[in-house]
Order: sequence, then structure tokens, then C-alpha cells
Amino acid sequence: AKNRGKNRIVFFDTIMSKQLAIKREKLAMIERGLKNKEFILYLQPKFNVEKKEVVGAEVLVRWVHPTHGLIPPSEFIPYISNSDIEVEFDKYIVSRAFECIDYLYSKGLKVKLSINVSPNALLNEELIEFIRGTLLTELKEKSSMIEIEIIESTSITDLNKASEILGEFNKIGFGISVDDFGTGYASLDYIKALPIDTVKIDRTFVVDMLSDPTNLNVTEVVILLAKAFNKEIVAEGVENIETASALYKLGCNIFQGYLIAKPLPIEDFVDMYHKLNNM
Ligand code: C2E
Ligand code: CA
Ligand code: CA
Ligand code: CA
Repeated sequence: AKNRGKNRIVFFDTIMSKQLAIKREKLAMIERGLKNKEFILYLQPKFNVEKKEVVGAEVLVRWVHPTHGLIPPSEFIPYISNSDIEVEFDKYIVSRAFECIDYLYSKGLKVKLSINVSPNALLNEELIEFIRGTLLTELKEKSSMIEIEIIESTSITDLNKASEILGEFNKIGFGISVDDFGTGYASLDYIKALPIDTVKIDRTFVVDMLSDPTNLNVTEVVILLAKAFNKEIVAEGVENIETASALYKLGCNIFQGYLIAKPLPIEDFVDMYHKLNNM
């Protein structure tokens, strides 16, 4: 029995060092991809049905790999999270988002872009320093065009620090949105303690809210909570008209989802923007 226990440890050791090797290899690939600017930003419109206009867009990264083609974030973000290159990656995304804003300006479009940032990177302070420093010349006119989406399901252990740093982002002019609201255990803490403007209802609730009464209830509660704290509400994962009208009746009028548009390369986004605004 003793021996078997020992073998088991050796076995897990092997698996763990294999996993570590894989992770290191992936991270090296990602770093190379970053250097070669293989990561591009797709944009997905947020549509206000009351105003009948596009009120913003979420920035969703894609990896255009030279041999593997288009790789979705689910296949590389997990490796980046909590790694050494997390902040570097976020800096890259912020820089490219500023370029997107330039491009959109050149097409006569003013669209607020939402960037996904993990609480880790946010609390690191390096990111905000980078934004303040390198992009300072751009900040005045552009910073009001950026919103940060923080993922709620990752716990922020130090709410005071988070509140302080988000306050700094606020001062620069960035908007703050809480992503995946309702999926974490800290929703109420977050909405009370942090200087957030917008709450996003997670797509896992929205997608099947009409067939799953629990998810409908959660959606309703999230909307009520957001309203009680006077926050803007965005529903993501809106795939059909029935869901949209149910959400609208509950008091949500900004939608993001396949019903409106898929995430699109920026050129296609410009066309879609005009199409949606002329509806
Ligand atoms: P998220 O922030 O919750 O982003 C929304 C996801 O829902 C996107 O997946 C989007 O394509 C998808 N989606 C949009 N509309 C619908 C719909 O109607 N139905 C369904 N079923 N899905 C819809 P995507 O682009 O694959 O991104 C997955 C996740 O990867 C994001 O979830 C976000 O957490 C992360 N991510 C994406 N880009 C970045 C980034 O630049 N930085 C970081 N840190 N994370 C990112
Ligand atoms: Ca998001
Ligand atoms: Ca989300
Ligand atoms: Ca998410």
C-alpha cells in the first residue's frame, strides 16, 4: 500500500511537470504572437433599443495564428491569466484599442470601446501607469472613449485597493463596468464598494432565461439590484427577439448579442454600425 501511494505521487508529479511544460510552451508561443502583433481586436456592438443606436462596443481579442488560423480567447486567455505576461498582454490590448478609436474617428465614428481586464492586472498598478505615461498625449480626447470591464467572478480580495485604482481610472475618464454580474459571490460587495457605472448581466443567465426559470429570476434580481444602485445595465448573450423583449420589459434596454451582431473585424464593424443606426 505504501508503495502504491508513492507511485501515485510520482504519477501526479509527472502529470504536473508535464502541465507546467505545456503552460510554459504556450506562454512562449503567446509572447511570440504578441511581438508579431498576431492578436487582433474584434468589436461587438452594444445597441440601445430605445435610442435605436449603437452606444458602444466590446473589444474581444482573437489570435490570428500563422499556421493555426483564428484562435478564440478561450484557448489562450486561461494561460495568460495569473501569468507573468498578463499585464503586458493588457497593455497590448489597450494600445490596440486606442488605434481602433483612431480608425473609427477616421471613419467619422465615435464609439465607446469596452476592454476586458482581469482584477489581477488592474490591481497591479503597472497598467494604469502605462496608460498614464505612454499614452498621455492621447489621453485627453480619447480616455472618455474607453470603458473597462472587470470580471466579477474572479474575487477581488482587497476592495479598498480596487476602489482606489478604479477611482484613478475614473479620474482619467475611463468608464467602469462589471462583467458577468451575478456569477460571483461578491456581487453586492462590488456594486456597493466600487465606483462602477455599468453592470453586465452574464450571458449564461440571458441565453436560456426563457426556458430556465432560475436564470430568469437571477436576471430579474440583477436588473433590480443595478437599478437600486443607479447603474447602467447591459445584457449580453441576447440571441433572439423574445429574450430581448423580455429583458426590455424588465427594464433593460442595452443589448449585446448575436441578435444584434456577432463580434466583427473593425472594417465590418463600421458597416454594421451604419446598418444598425439606420434601423
Ligand atoms: P466575455 O467578456 O463574457 O465576452 C462575451 C463573450 O460572449 C464573447 O466570447 C462573445 O463572442 C460571446 N457572445 C456574444 N454574443 C453572444 C450571444 O448572443 N450568444 C453567445 N452564446 N455568446 C455570445 P469570446 O469573444 O469568445 O470571449 C470569451 C471570453 O474571453 C470573454 O468573455 C472574456 O472573458 C475573454 N476575453 C476576450 N477578449 C479578452 C481580452 O482582450 N482580454 C481579456 N483579459 N479577456 C478577454
Ligand atoms: Ca466582457
Ligand atoms: Ca461576460
Ligand atoms: Ca466572461
